[in-house]
Order: sequence, then structure tokens, then C-alpha cells
Amino acid sequence: MRFEVSHVLDAIERRLTTEPSLARGVLDLAEIVRYVDLDGGRPATVVRLGLVIDAIARHLGEENVSVYCIVDKQMLSDLDVPSSERMVVRRWADDGHVEVVQGAQMRVREVSEVAGLPIISRFLPGWSTAPAPGGAAITVRGPVPGGPSDLGRRLMSVRWRCPDPECALFADMRVAVGQPLPALRGNPLCPRHGAPLADTGPAPISDVLAVRVGGIIKQRFLVTSAAPVLVGRAPDGQWEGSDARAIVLGPWLDEGAVKAISRTHLTVSLDRAGLSMKDVSMNGAWVHPGGDKIAPQQPRVLGPGEYLELYPGVEVGRPGTFGPAGVAPQSVLVDAPTVSFRPPNS
Ligand SMILES: [Zn+2]
Repeated sequence: MRFEVSHVLDAIERRLTTEPSLARGVLDLAEIVRYVDLDGGRPATVVRLGLVIDAIARHLGEENVSVYCIVDKQMLSDLDVPSSERMVVRRWADDGHVEVVQGAQMRVREVSEVAGLPIISRFLPGWSTAPAPGGAAITVRGPVPGGPSDLGRRLMSVRWRCPDPECALFADMRVAVGQPLPALRGNPLCPRHGAPLADTGPAPISDVLAVRVGGIIKQRFLVTSAAPVLVGRAPDGQWEGSDARAIVLGPWLDEGAVKAISRTHLTVSLDRAGLSMKDVSMNGAWVHPGGDKIAPQQPRVLGPGEYLELYPGVEVGRPGTFGPAGVAPQSVLVDAPTVSFRPPNS
């Protein structure tokens, strides 16, 4: 049993982000873990976060959605939460996947207002969670913010650093994956350490992209001017000596797509010229609308409203730009990569 729980928690970990532009909502973990009605199980368990993340995915019609998760400090000593789970949450905090704060409810409201994310909660206005057949469901209750406030945009345009050398939230290593929203008590503070943040200059410019397979968004990802992102069947992170990050398409591809899509098919980079896509594959990439093949091995700036197709039904672009869903062949629809949710012996 513990083995399965640990696998569920590993899968949940991949859905946690403290980068506001990737998160689809913000929540208070202590509230979710004690939501017994969701599954009628034990008094408190982090596994319930998985039910809520699945509900958000169904609500949005997207897979692999990420949430901005706030952990109240008190939860870490809540004896109803199994100690093995509390240990995992502490690790998440140390790695910067979640924020541990004093007073989570206040912080949830702040992130929602300033970063423009819906609150996922039983009590607060926003996206309400309730039990539903097979887990949880989201109903919209009250207004949902439409995007970051002006203050939020200003805060996110600066690269902040926490004076605590152990801080995983505001550290140099996060330059390619974004940074959390500073807390505000007069000055920008680290939400975990309460220390004033140092302004280290403008943040790298960034853009949110998505991979869509068979008409369904499988994964959103951040591209920053700090490092390129590689997209392919199984990209090699060591690319031309850079510390590029990789988007692995392999698990979402059918047999035809697996043959047609190269290990590293596309490099995506961002600079003042815009968002550049370079086809580094064997078979090519096509730009839509229009469907023209792009020149191989040469950066192609992706204009507003454009996206690339690597194979019929396998697309990369800004989430709002894809053509209507359902034009892709059904055969591209494959099972979601649920490997880690499967029982160990299946
Ligand atoms: Zn800090």
C-alpha cells in the first residue's frame, strides 16, 4: 500500500509548480488533505490532492495540469497526516515545488489576486471542489481572475533573490523554469523565509507553450530566454553544450508518430527577435495556418496565431493558437502516461 501511495505522490509532484504562468489554480494543501468526503478514506492524506488535480484536468479538458500549492506550516506537524506523507511534502518544499508559509489561506488569496489564478477550495469563491463519481469535480463558484494584476506583472518582471542560501524558491538555478510570486508586506518578501527579496535585475523574458496530441493539450511548458527547450520523442538534455530542458513526447505517440518524430525534433528558444523554432529532425515540421514546411536547421520565428505540426495531430505552439480540436486522426489518441498510477504488478 505504501508503495502505491509513494508512486501516486511521485506523480503528483510532477503537477506542482510555483511558477504562476504555468499554474492553472492555487490551493491550500491542508484543506484538500482533510477533505474526507472526497473519498471517505482516512482523516488526512495528500493522495486527495491527486483527486483534485484530476478534477481540474477534466474541467479544463487538458492533461498534466499544474497547480500552485500552498502548504500551511502547521500541516507539517499534523499527526493525522501520515508521517511518510509529511516527509514527502517537506521534500517538495525543500525542492521549491510548493510554498510552506505561516497562514496559507491568506497566501492563497494573495497568489490568486496578484497572479490571477482561480482558487480551488470548498469554501472560497473560485473553483469549488466536490465529490463526484470516481473522485472529485470542479464547479465554478464566483468570479475567476482573468490574469495577473498590474502589480503581479511588475513583480514577475523582476528576478528576485532570497537572502537565505538554502532557498529553493528564489534561487539562481530557477532561472530557466520561472519563479514564484513574491509575498507582499509592504516590500516583496520570500513567502517561505519572510526575508526581503533582493532585486537582481529584469527577469528573463518567457512565454508559455503547449504540446497538443490528437486534439488534447498534453503539457504546457515555459520557455525563457535563459535556456532553450528541446521537444522530441526522447530528447537528450545535453544539447550543444547548453543546459536545455526537454519535453518528452514518446509516451503520447502512436506507432506512426514514433517512427516519424525524431528523438530531438525541435529546439525552441526565446530572445528579443521572438519565439524561435528550429527543426532539427529527419522528417521536418510544418507551420499552421498554411501548412508550409519550415526550412530545416534554421530558426523560424513563430508569429502570433502560428503553431507547428511535427506529424499529423502532434502540435507545438502557444496554447490559444491551435486549430479546432478533432481534425487530428483518432489513431493518435493514446492512453495518458498513467504508468505511475498503475498498481506495481500490472
Ligand atoms: Zn526564501
